[in-house]
Amino acid sequence: MAVSGPTWDVTGLLRDEVEALMVELGQARYRGGQLFQWVQARRATDVDAMTTFSRDLRGTLAGWITVSRPEVVREQRATDGTRKFLFRLRDAEEIESVLIPDEDRLTACISTQVGCPLACRFCVTGLMGMRRNLTAAEIVGEVLALEDKLAAGERISNIVLMGMGEPLLNFHEVERSLRILCDEHGANFSPRRITLSTAGHVPGIQKLAASDLGVNLAVSLSATTDEVRDRLMPINKRWPIAELLKVCRAYPLPRRRRLTFEYVMLDGVNDTLEDAKRLVRLLRGARCKINLIPLNATPDLPDRPSPRERIEAFQQILCDAHLTATIRESRGQEIAAACGMLRVETDRRG
Ligand code: SAH
Repeated sequence: MAVSGPTWDVTGLLRDEVEALMVELGQARYRGGQLFQWVQARRATDVDAMTTFSRDLRGTLAGWITVSRPEVVREQRATDGTRKFLFRLRDAEEIESVLIPDEDRLTACISTQVGCPLACRFCVTGLMGMRRNLTAAEIVGEVLALEDKLAAGERISNIVLMGMGEPLLNFHEVERSLRILCDEHGANFSPRRITLSTAGHVPGIQKLAASDLGVNLAVSLSATTDEVRDRLMPINKRWPIAELLKVCRAYPLPRRRRLTFEYVMLDGVNDTLEDAKRLVRLLRGARCKINLIPLNATPDLPDRPSPRERIEAFQQILCDAHLTATIRESRGQEIAAACGMLRVETDRRG
C-alpha cells in the first residue's frame, strides 16, 4: 500500500476485511475487530471517538478510513407511528427507508436499489426506472442511520428488504450487507429476523438457497395464471409461475420456518374466488404462508385495491384449504410509506 492511499469506507467492509486492513497498516489483527465494532455496533462515525485506540493510531486511521452514512434529507411521521426517511447518497441519488413500529417489534424496511428495472404494474418504484444498485456500505448505512434516529432503548428488531428495488438483482452487495449486519461483533442481527422479498428472480432464489445466509424468503406472487402475471409483473415472462414455484418448493428451509408468498390484491384483476382456488392448487403441500396485501393505490397506478369483503372471502378459501393466510395491514399510507409507495420524485433531482 502507498503511504497516502485511497480511503476505505468501513461501513461496507466485512469484519475480516477490516482486520486485514489493520494488518496492512502494521497493527494487530484484533484492532480490526475493534474498529469493526466501533463502526457497526457502537455506530461511531468519527475516528476521534474511538477511544480504545491510541492517539497515534487514530491519526493514522484518519488518513485511511472513512465511515459513511447516507444523509437524511427528510423525515415524515404518520399518525400510526410509521416513519419514512429520504436519504441522499454521495452521488446525489436518493432512496427511501421506513421504520414500522408494531407492538413489541420495530421493523426497518430497507431499499436495495435506486429505482428498479422490473416495472411491476402496481408499484411506483417501477415508475422511476432503474438508476443503479446500492453498495453494501449504502445498505448497511440505511440501517445504521435509522438506528441513529431511535430514542434511547429503542432497537430495530426486524429488517425487511422490501423497500425500493429487487434485492436479488443486486445479490453481491445485498449478501455483503447482510453478512455485515449479522456479524456478532457488529449490529448482530439474527438472520431469522431478516426477510428478503423478491419479485421472483429464479436464479437469485437458487443462489440464495445455495448460500448459508439463513434469512427468510418472501416471494411476490400476486397472480395465479401466467396470463395475468405477465401483465402485472413482466419478470414472469422470463420466469413463469411453474418455474418460480418449482424453485420455491426446492428451497431448503430450516425446521419450523416457512416461505412467505405475498399477493397484492387488485380489484377485478387477481382477486376472484377462482383465483383463490387456483392459489390453493398451486401452493398445496408447500411449507408456506400467504400474505394478502390490499393494493396501496396512487393516482399514477392504473389499479384499485380489492374491497375488504373480497379480500376476506379470498382469505377464507385459503384458510378452508388449511393454508395460513394473513392480511397485511397497510402502514404509513398517508405519508406514502406503505408497500409499493416508495419513490423519489424525478423533479426533486438536479
Ligand atoms: N422487489 C421486491 C421487494 C420490493 S416490493 C419484491 O417485489 O418483492 C415489496 C412488496 O410490496 C412486494 O410484495 C410487492 O408485491 C408489494 N407491493 C408493491 N407495490 C405495491 C402496492 N402498490 N401496494 C401494495 N403492495 C405493493
